[in-house]
Amino acid sequence: MEFEISNTFTNMKISWSPYTLQFRHPFTVATFSRTTTPIVIVKIEHLGQIGYGEASMPPYLGESQESVINFLSKIDLSKFESPFNTEEILRHIDQLENGNNAAKASIDIALHDLQGKLLNQRTIDILNIKEKPALSSFTIGIDTIEKMLEKVDEAEKYGFKILKIKAGTPNDRAMISAIVKKSCKAFSIDVNQGWIGKEKALDMAYEFKEMGCLFIEQPFTKENMRDSAWLTERSPIPIIADESVKRLCDLKAAKDIFHGINVKLMKSTGIQEALKMIETARSFKMNVVLGCMSESSCAISAAAILSSLADWIDLDGPYLITNDLFSGMEIKEGKVSLQNKYGIGIENLTI
Ligand code: MG
Repeated sequence: MEFEISNTFTNMKISWSPYTLQFRHPFTVATFSRTTTPIVIVKIEHLGQIGYGEASMPPYLGESQESVINFLSKIDLSKFESPFNTEEILRHIDQLENGNNAAKASIDIALHDLQGKLLNQRTIDILNIKEKPALSSFTIGIDTIEKMLEKVDEAEKYGFKILKIKAGTPNDRAMISAIVKKSCKAFSIDVNQGWIGKEKALDMAYEFKEMGCLFIEQPFTKENMRDSAWLTERSPIPIIADESVKRLCDLKAAKDIFHGINVKLMKSTGIQEALKMIETARSFKMNVVLGCMSESSCAISAAAILSSLADWIDLDGPYLITNDLFSGMEIKEGKVSLQNKYGIGIENLTI
């Protein structure tokens, strides 16, 4: 499909607003625990339309509202003729400064949303991605076994059919077998770099496979490629990189170390590079998990567009927070369901 684009586009206006997402329950993984996540909502306005984007900054990744706002304030889009020069605009932004992946993602998302609204098209259609409702997992953070079992009930309440269980504690076996005993749902395990010792990890991989585990994410520290490669060679279920692979440039080194990667917009700098990462991972015959940080329905709905391209999906963000700013993708009977709205498919609930 071809669109006629006017060449009179000028003066894209960027604005932003910091916000704090509140978790429904304290969120604990192997390396940290917290009750909130700072985000920044970005708007790009053009010809009366508003594209929304979002940067989410779990503190361990090194970005903050201050760093995001500092980065955004350096961007000048007035030099670009059209918001449809996606490659050119995002290359310019990427070259402004290293890092700032979440800040860069917020612009990528807002640009894709804006383009859809200007064309009266859904972003998924513009990108020519197939829409296929696919199951998403629901995250069970580390807690007392009793509390973790309550979260299994919560997953049930929202209709999720797969669990992603956070692990990486001395208590992993007890936690996971208690959950498996209560729930017959399929599950994966996210160790968040928390395991030490490759032989023990291999024993766990065999044990958890018997319980129905689909894959294990980031068992060792992100730098520990040697043990990761050793485990990947022997594990009966896929070993997936999360913290070890952020962007496309990290992927080549991970090729023979992991079976697959977890692609997240906040790591990849947005939709455009996430698509390239998925394509490259597939050319390496690697598995793809589509994941998220704690994000509102804005960034999660943008990620949900890529659902049909992944083997496994972990887009539960809006279900883990109490103060979403947008409505967007939903989980229906456990599957990711997109809104039939132009752009990334969201509605701002605050205006
Ligand atoms: Mg992870």
